[in-house]
Amino acid sequence: MILFCRSKIYKDREGCMDIVKVYEENNGLLRGHFLLSSGMHSDTYLQSEQVLQYPEIATGVISQLIPKLKHFDFTTVVSPAIGGIRFGYELSRLLSKRSIFTERVDGKMTFRRGFTLSPKEKIVIAEDVVTTGRSTKECIAAIEENGGEVVAIVSIIDRSEESPNFSQPYMSLVRVLVKSYEASNCPICTTLGTAAIKPGSR
Ligand SMILES: [Zn+2]
Repeated sequence: MILFCRSKIYKDREGCMDIVKVYEENNGLLRGHFLLSSGMHSDTYLQSEQVLQYPEIATGVISQLIPKLKHFDFTTVVSPAIGGIRFGYELSRLLSKRSIFTERVDGKMTFRRGFTLSPKEKIVIAEDVVTTGRSTKECIAAIEENGGEVVAIVSIIDRSEESPNFSQPYMSLVRVLVKSYEASNCPICTTLGTAAIKPGSR
């Protein structure tokens, strides 16, 4: 039963996991010519759901964040839907915290499904990949509007090109440099001559 040990084979002698290798080998990190939801073109495409579809690997990856959070006092993990949900759920399971999520309603990030916060409830935000930090900031706004207090932000991958400038401490497992270009000025279009593809939309 190979799956049973899958997360262990990515660990070195010190027990550290090569997150980039895990993503690459599970189709979570593709190299080529991609169309991002922003309309930009990019040489790298990240899909955490490809990695998180294997619970054993998800646990292995997400458990690497536990030491980074040990000095933070919080009761709840909040994730922006959809991408953050499985990440946030597994993180909170490992830490015995509550797990809830925000989602967009008519474009505005909000709590639905009866999720409520206690006054000053201490929260860690979990988002699988941080790119510009926009959805994380929208999630922070939703939490603060509901009386909660964000104490930290965690992601598996930080692929921001410019610092997202969060007011709270931000930690990720790995930083992946992704080059993205305006569609009208994309050197990959020129070099490859093929159209940019969107793997996640299939
Ligand atoms: Zn291009």
